[in-house]
Amino acid sequence: MEGKGKNKDQIKEDEGIMESNFDESVETFDELNLKPNLLRGIYGYGFENPSIIQQKAILPIIQWNDVIAAQSGTGKTAAFAIGTLQLVDPQKNEIQCLILSPTRELAHQTSIVYQFLGEYLKVKVCLLIGGTRVGLDIDKLKEEPQFLVGNPGRVLDLIWKKKISLGYLQSFVLDEADEMLSKGFLETIKEIISLIPNTAKILLFSATMPKGIVEMTTKFMKDPAKILVKNEELTLEGIKHYYVYLKKEDKLDVLFEIYRGIEIAQAIIYCYIKKVVDYVSEELKKKGHMISSIHGDLKQFERDSVMRYFRSGVTRVLVIMAYLPEELMYIKFH
Ligand code: AMP
Repeated sequence: MEGKGKNKDQIKEDEGIMESNFDESVETFDELNLKPNLLRGIYGYGFENPSIIQQKAILPIIQWNDVIAAQSGTGKTAAFAIGTLQLVDPQKNEIQCLILSPTRELAHQTSIVYQFLGEYLKVKVCLLIGGTRVGLDIDKLKEEPQFLVGNPGRVLDLIWKKKISLGYLQSFVLDEADEMLSKGFLETIKEIISLIPNTAKILLFSATMPKGIVEMTTKFMKDPAKILVKNEELTLEGIKHYYVYLKKEDKLDVLFEIYRGIEIAQAIIYCYIKKVVDYVSEELKKKGHMISSIHGDLKQFERDSVMRYFRSGVTRVLVIMAYLPEELMYIKFH
């Protein structure tokens, strides 16, 4: 493979796993020469620097044709969202990008990411998932969105009903591609791919990308840029990690001590059980800290709004329930 960013000597990976062939990357979002309103959306969402997959995968989406990206770290949703938001023409009221996810929850989360990142581009995003009335989707499609995010079955149904036309499609994203290209979804995906224009970029994202799947993609992808982020690359530079062994009764005092001693812009505090989430939140509130908390009793929309407040910086401390060893209170600073 030749061209900008491609490696002549392909990086050898373990047997059975895809090899990378595109090694160009950036260190900041500014280097990507994105539309100013997209950059505004990214920083407005609270992202400061690209994650590893974003450093590597956004460029080929913009510059290259098809892309296959495999990684197990964070940030793949925003990687393809930023890439495809850059490609889209917000003035054109046609479906320009279709994103398929295997589950309703994932499709829902992805549509939220598009809405936030695309806020200043003023693009319209339509969510099409099972378990809702098709009539509602048909109404939403009349608003002429540029982005469709959905599950394969519902999307294909709407294509058959002639409510979706893919004639102006620029890019087609398969999230969790390894799952989407395995038995349960394969026939539906093949049919949708047969209906997209030849000129549309196909972008596959997944945590794993076994060679068998990559071989299958040769039937429908053109000379894809392949990006593999290995686990050892996923260190979070700029974030220092510490741990402190404590007796249970000392935890809160040490937490306050840390707050007094260092400047903390935002923090997430993970607790083991809901009772501790409530206790730590109350104690921090008493000290005048703006707190948000998440535990199992919250409904999804409540979680979403807590996360929105935290991301936008309205609240500075997020206390969250997570299953960690009981003795440990793990404090992560951003
Ligand atoms: P994902 O792997 O796409 O599900 O993203 C996991 C989490 O990482 C989400 O909460 C994102 O909002 C967050 N995230 C993704 N990219 C960045 C970034 N560049 N900076 C900070 N947080 C990010």
